[in-house]
Amino acid sequence: MDSQQMKRALVTGGNRGIGFAIAKGLLAAGYELIITSRSLEDANQAANELGNGVVPIALDIGDDLSIEQAVRSVSKDIAYLDVLINNAGVYPDKNTDVLTVSRDVLETAINTNTFGVIKMVQAFLPLLEASQEARVINVSSGMGSIGGLTSTAPSYCLSKLALNGATIMLSQSLQTRGIAVNSVGPGWVKTDMGGSSAPRTPEQGADTVVWLATEAKHGESGKFWRDRKAISF
Ligand code: NAP
Repeated sequence: MDSQQMKRALVTGGNRGIGFAIAKGLLAAGYELIITSRSLEDANQAANELGNGVVPIALDIGDDLSIEQAVRSVSKDIAYLDVLINNAGVYPDKNTDVLTVSRDVLETAINTNTFGVIKMVQAFLPLLEASQEARVINVSSGMGSIGGLTSTAPSYCLSKLALNGATIMLSQSLQTRGIAVNSVGPGWVKTDMGGSSAPRTPEQGADTVVWLATEAKHGESGKFWRDRKAISF
């Protein structure tokens, strides 16, 4: 499936929620697509629903072996990746606050939402470097901004605050290699994570991510975006 003309993207957690909507948006923009889910069956089902030759792979971003296997499997078929969208994430805080949260819950959030993203960029770097204008987009949250920190969601907020920190550092490190790295806050979105009261559709949540992947100036890097505008961290 290698053809230098085609733009190619990988979306983690592309099987449902905002990730599925990002996948639909990228397909509509003509991108070749790889989507991941922790279960290959779920990834297969979503890929069939999306159609147009979407490639499904199994990936747990909390597990380095799984990340290595995913890179090996993808690298058999492709020689470059233009866009890496780190969308997969968890919200493990339940009936807790910063005074009671367990270490387990803190670790689950930061291991997936922050460390998983850093390890994904490290692992996919050779494929990203082989693209002319690679972009990494990290799906963060307004709850990870300084003004959005909430004591009742300690693990989630800290993991997204740290993810925004990782975006800044990755952007610095990858600037000389021509790879743009940005964070996006999708707003409160109706998904399994966001719940049924959320005001935004997954497509609205995906909009800025798809725009950054396909239309935004490549020179934009190291920023936090919401509704196609840079906002403060
Ligand atoms: P969702 O419907 O719960 O979907 C989460 C996705 O992440 C699923 O595809 C899930 O895959 C994947 N995932 C979770 N843990 C993973 C792991 N260890 N390895 C690989 N994949 C994993 O949530 P969503 O609302 O679409 O959220 C997508 C992103 O937007 C997240 O980063 C979230 O923090 C962010 N966000 C959401 C909202 C909101 O209101 N919904 C607001 C701000 C930010 P499986 O199917 O395999 O579990």
